[in-house]
Amino acid sequence: MLFSGMFIPTLKENPQEAEIISHRLMLRAGMIRKLAAGIYSYLPLGFKVLKKVENIIRSQMNSAGAQELLLPTLHPRHLWEETGRWNEYGKEMLKVLDRHKREFGLGPTHEEIITDLARREIKSYRQLPLILYQFQTKFRDEIRPRFGIMRCREFLMKDAYSFDKDAEGLAKNYDKMYETYNNIFTQCGLEFKLVEADPGLIGGSVSHEYMVLADTGEEELLTCQKCDYAIKAKAEHNLTSCPKCKGKFASIRGIEVGHIFQLGTKYSDLLKANFLDENGKQTPFVMGCYGIGVSRIVAAAIEQSHDDDGIIWQMPIAPFEVLILPISIADDKIMKVSGELYKKLKKEGIDVVLDDRDEQAGVKFKDTDLIGIPIRITVGTKTIKENNVEIKLRKDKNSFKEKISETPCKVKELLKNMK
Ligand code: ATP
Ligand code: MG
Repeated sequence: MLFSGMFIPTLKENPQEAEIISHRLMLRAGMIRKLAAGIYSYLPLGFKVLKKVENIIRSQMNSAGAQELLLPTLHPRHLWEETGRWNEYGKEMLKVLDRHKREFGLGPTHEEIITDLARREIKSYRQLPLILYQFQTKFRDEIRPRFGIMRCREFLMKDAYSFDKDAEGLAKNYDKMYETYNNIFTQCGLEFKLVEADPGLIGGSVSHEYMVLADTGEEELLTCQKCDYAIKAKAEHNLTSCPKCKGKFASIRGIEVGHIFQLGTKYSDLLKANFLDENGKQTPFVMGCYGIGVSRIVAAAIEQSHDDDGIIWQMPIAPFEVLILPISIADDKIMKVSGELYKKLKKEGIDVVLDDRDEQAGVKFKDTDLIGIPIRITVGTKTIKENNVEIKLRKDKNSFKEKISETPCKVKELLKNMK
C-alpha cells in the first residue's frame, strides 16, 4: 500500500483523555477514535490489526475442528427469562423495544442463543461432539468503561461453545480449547499466564483465565518464581507459597484476554436442551464455553510492548510487516529504488507499505516509530550511492546496511525469524 492514500490520522500531541499507554498510542497512531463512552470506531490501521488477530484465532479454532457460525446480536427476552439471566445480568445488559413493544437484549454473551439452537437442531448423540464459534460485537453496559478499547461497552469477542454427550467428552474438548488458546496467545507474540478462575455469572465448575502480563493490568496476580503456577491475588490472599512446588510468589499484574469454562449441564438443564443417547434416553448436553477478547488483545499487546516513541508490534499482528521510507520523494533515484523494492516485496507476499508522502524525513521517522512497523527500510541519497539501503528493526536501537539487491532476501529471512 501507499501511505499517501491511506487514512492514518496520526496525532503529535498526547490526547488528554487517555489514562493508559495503549489508549494514548492507539489514538496517536490513528488506529481508533471515540464516538461515545466505551464506544469506538476502528480506523483502517486499527482494523487491520484487529483482523490479523482475528485470523490467527480463526485458523487455530479451525485446526481444532471448531466450526464458525454467526449468531444474532438481538436476543428476545423470553430466552433470557428461561435461564433467569434477564434479571440476573442486570444493568450490564442493554435492552431495546421493537415497534411492537417487544423486548430484546443486545447480546453480552451467547449461551442462551446457542443452547436454543442446539435443542432445536441436535437430536442424537451421533451429531456430537461439536464446537461452534463466532466473531461478534458484544454489548455490555459497563459501569466504568475505560482505557480505550480495553474495557468497552461495544467490543469484539470470539466466543465458542462445545457440546458433548458426557463429562468425559467435555473434559476432552476443554483440554483441546485450553491448548488452542495457548497456541493463539503464543502466536500473537504475547507473554501470558494461565490462572484458575471463578466462573462468576456465566456459571459452571472448572474455569481458567488467560492473562497478558502488563504493569497496567486490572488484575493482580501471584506467580510462582520457580514453576509456571499463577493465581489471582484477590481470591487467595492467604497463600504465601506455591501449592505446587512451594516456590516463592511474586506479585505481578495482568490483563484478562481469554476465559474458558466447563459449563456442564447448567444451560441445557435450564433450557431443556436434550438429545437422545445410545440407550434412547433424553439427556442434557454437556457444554463448555470459551471466550477471547479480540479487541482487548490489541490493547493488551501495546501495553506489553512499546517505548517512549510508540508501539512495538510483534510481527504476526503488526499492521504492516515492512515500511519503506524514501528520505525525499523529490529525488528520482531514491524513488526508483524505493518503488522497485516495494514491488519486489509485494510480489513475495510481504505486507509492505511505501511512505510516499510529501513530508519531512523527520516526520516520517516519527510516524513509523509511533505506528510501530517491525521492519523499516530507509532509502537515502548517500546509501544508494553505495548500492545500499538501511534496515532498522523497531525493537532494536541500531540499524545496519544491506545491499539493495540482497534486501528482499534479507527481509524474508528477518520475517522468518520474527514470526
Ligand atoms: P472482565 O472481568 O474483564 O469484565 P469478563 O469476565 O466479564 O471480563 P468474559 O465474559 O469471560 O469476560 O468475556 C470473554 C473475554 O472478553 C474476556 O476475557 C475479555 O478479554 C473480553 N471482555 C470482557 N469484557 C470486555 C469489555 N468490556 N471490553 C473489552 N473486552 C472485554
Ligand atoms: Mg465483565
